[in-house]
Amino acid sequence: MYRLDDQVALVTGASRGIGRAISLALAQAGAHVALLSRSAADLERVAEEISAGGGQAEVHVCDVTDADGVAAVVKEIIERHGALHILVNNAGTTRDNLVLRMSDEEWRVPLEINLKGAFNTIRASSRPMLKQRYGRIINITSVVGVTGNAGQANYAASKAGLIGLTKSIAKELASRNITVNAVGPGYIHTDMTAGITEQVKNKLLEAIPLGRLGEPDDVAPAVVFLASKAAGYITGQTLLVDGGMVM
Ligand code: NAP
Repeated sequence: MYRLDDQVALVTGASRGIGRAISLALAQAGAHVALLSRSAADLERVAEEISAGGGQAEVHVCDVTDADGVAAVVKEIIERHGALHILVNNAGTTRDNLVLRMSDEEWRVPLEINLKGAFNTIRASSRPMLKQRYGRIINITSVVGVTGNAGQANYAASKAGLIGLTKSIAKELASRNITVNAVGPGYIHTDMTAGITEQVKNKLLEAIPLGRLGEPDDVAPAVVFLASKAAGYITGQTLLVDGGMVM
C-alpha cells in the first residue's frame, strides 16, 4: 500500500528479529535496503531473502557504537546511490539486572548501543538528508521506555532517551522536510525475549488486550508507514505496537 520505490533505506540491527522483518518489508515496498549489523553471515542471509523476493539489498558489517565506522557506511551509501532517504535505528540489546546489583558495564552497554548508536547514525545521516531536503528517521524504542520496568533500568533509560532524542531531532530537522518518529514494540517473539519463562509470559498475556505476544511482522508495517510519503505530516511521535498493553 505504501510504496517506497527509488528510495534508499539504512536499517541497523538488520541481521535478525525485528530488524530483519523491517528490512524485508521496506524492500517489499520497493526500497533499496542497506543492512547493517556486526554479523556478516546473518546479514548475507537476509540480503539473499530480499533478493529472492525480487528486492534489492546490500550488506554493511559495522558496530553502531563505532561512530567513524557508521559515518563511513553512510558515506559509502551516498557515494553509491546519491541519497539516503530512510534511516531505521533498530540495533539494540539488554543487560537486565536490579539496580542494586547492576555493574557499571551492565549500565553502559545498552546506553552505548541503543542510544549512542542511534545518535551516531543520525549525526552521520542528517547532513545528507538536510541537503536533499527529505528524510525519514525511525527509532525503535520500547514500551518500557514509556512505562519503566523493574530489572531493566539501564534498558528503559536508553529507550526513554531514544524518545527524547526523537522529539529533539524532529524539531531540529523539521524545516527541511525530515520527519523523525519512534516505534515502541511491546513483547515481540525474537532472540531478545526467548528467555522469558512461561510464568512471566502468562502474566504478560493478562496485560495484553489483544491476547498474544507480538511477532516481528507486527512491527514492520508501522515502520513502512512512517517511512512513507503518506506519513509526511507526522513527526516527533511514538507509535506503540504492543497489542494495547500501554494505553
Ligand atoms: P534481537 O533479535 O536480539 O536483534 C538485535 C539486533 O541488533 C541484531 O540484528 C543485532 O545484530 C543488532 N545489534 C546489537 N548490537 C549491535 C551493535 N553494537 N551494532 C550493530 N548491530 C547491533 O532483538 P529484537 O528483539 O529484534 O530487537 C530489535 C529492536 O527492537 C531493539 O532495539 C530492541 O530493543 C527493540 N525492542 C524489542 C522488543 C522485543 O520484545 N523483542 C520489544 C521492544 C523493543 P548483530 O548481533 O548481528 O550485530
